[in-house]
Amino acid sequence: MSNCLPFNSTLIRNMFTPLPPGQEPDHSPGFWAILSGSSLLLSAGLTQTQLPEGSLPPGIVSETEPLKIGLWQGKPLRAVRIAPDVLPPAEYEAVPFQGPDARLDNVLATVAGRAAQIMHWEKHSRFCSHCGGGLSRITASWGKRCLSCADEHFPHIHPCIIVLVRRGAELLLIRNAAWNVGRFSLVAGFLDFGESLEECVQREVREEAGIEVTNIRYVGSQCWPFPSQQMIGFLADYAGGEARPDGVEVVEAHWFSEDALPLSPGGKRSISRWIIDTFGKSGG
Ligand SMILES: [Zn+2]
Repeated sequence: MSNCLPFNSTLIRNMFTPLPPGQEPDHSPGFWAILSGSSLLLSAGLTQTQLPEGSLPPGIVSETEPLKIGLWQGKPLRAVRIAPDVLPPAEYEAVPFQGPDARLDNVLATVAGRAAQIMHWEKHSRFCSHCGGGLSRITASWGKRCLSCADEHFPHIHPCIIVLVRRGAELLLIRNAAWNVGRFSLVAGFLDFGESLEECVQREVREEAGIEVTNIRYVGSQCWPFPSQQMIGFLADYAGGEARPDGVEVVEAHWFSEDALPLSPGGKRSISRWIIDTFGKSGG
């Protein structure tokens, strides 16, 4: 089930209780999600990873006020961010939460992703995009209201489709211009104005690979906090066209036998990997 994918809430529901901002002041000790870019700071040298607990660790110079985002194992969980160009103290190491690093399990990666997404929104919602006025919180919500023009702003979560296209026992994979030679993944792209999700699938596959598709089926979705996407996964069948990349965003587009797939850049935590592993075999 896609709801068990990393970064989706199900994975941490036994550990984490989300709370909206603006609760009563709370000075009780708790846990820390200390972020540096898309990395989480963990104590160096521990074999079992865990969030730092107690006072904010000495040497951590936070860019932001600590923000309580919920309860972790029943205690307050506060997120802070250190500037990306500031090295963490020697007792800590910054572990990217997108990557396959074994020091960070899926549960911690998921709570780190939640914290990072919230902190990203906080950083980008300080001023009204309509009039430039300051924003204040809407009670019990991550939304904000402009103090000057009263416009309301809510977290920006960007929907993206991602699709596995099949032609018999072959799968359509593309190589983005930013990826290393030899790495391929599924067609994906942002929803555009005026589109249904199915129309977005059709357009992205046509634009990126020159292929027409039919029989589009939803299979699952994933929160993708880099910084704030919602990946919506589909399967589709080949309906026509010759595979040809757009030459700009996509530099290669090929059909691969389902038994001989190339390396994928998506990493084990991505819905791309999950779709290929779950639906990549025609008998599966
Ligand atoms: Zn305004």
